[in-house]
Amino acid sequence: MPFTQSLPSALSPSRLEDFQRCPRRYQYASIERRRQPATYATVKGRVVHQVLESLFNVDADARTTEVAWSALPGALDAVLSEDVRADLALDDELARRLRDDAARVVANYFSMEDPSAVRVEGVELRLRVTVDGAPLLGILDRLDRDDHDELVIVDYKTGSLPSRSFDTATFANTELYAALCESTLGERPTRIRLLYVTHGEAIERAVSAVVIDARARAASAAWARITRYYEAGQFPATPSRNACRFCPYTAVCRESGVAVVAG
Ligand code: SF4
Repeated sequence: MPFTQSLPSALSPSRLEDFQRCPRRYQYASIERRRQPATYATVKGRVVHQVLESLFNVDADARTTEVAWSALPGALDAVLSEDVRADLALDDELARRLRDDAARVVANYFSMEDPSAVRVEGVELRLRVTVDGAPLLGILDRLDRDDHDELVIVDYKTGSLPSRSFDTATFANTELYAALCESTLGERPTRIRLLYVTHGEAIERAVSAVVIDARARAASAAWARITRYYEAGQFPATPSRNACRFCPYTAVCRESGVAVVAG
């Protein structure tokens, strides 16, 4: 049966990740637009991202801890909508814990770099481009210019540090941002910096033309499959322990008869 909802107008790196984990998850999130309930971790991540965005929206010499702390209440207000409060069953104690945890992560950030010394090219930079027939859209946390005048993609991570064996998967998403940057701005970033602000650790990797090309081709191939499944009226489910463990749609998937793999 054909979908009544329209196909999204673009594919973002995070939606691509959904699709690569399990096409059915992409169907639920991006075609049926089912709401993903907020979790404590995602909410904390959004608050921290918002504070850091505010910090880089002021002049370099004004990027102080005071500015970050003053942005925290506004970020909490913006993120904690009625729906999100209900998802978290937020009471005063949990709200205090969230504020303190977010403040700790922002303090960690200040131990990692001096924001007044960063040359920023863009914050929350929205890039949209068609690559090999695939409409791609990405929002970069930050794009810097380093001491050699090269572009560097900076992505804030509020989750756990990846294990070494997952290096390639860790960078895959951000390497697609590099492809977007090159196509949109006409200049290839030379490095990616992932700032694991919860742990105060940064992981860096150089970006090559070969990798960018491979990521763009993978996205384009995925878009062709998305279009095909959309026209066919169903995206296949590919349950696996890794894919299902953190999937927000396990209940709906089970109801539709899929043998979901328990985490
Ligand atoms: S529960 Fe598993 S099979 Fe179902 S959509 Fe999520 S990842 Fe796919």
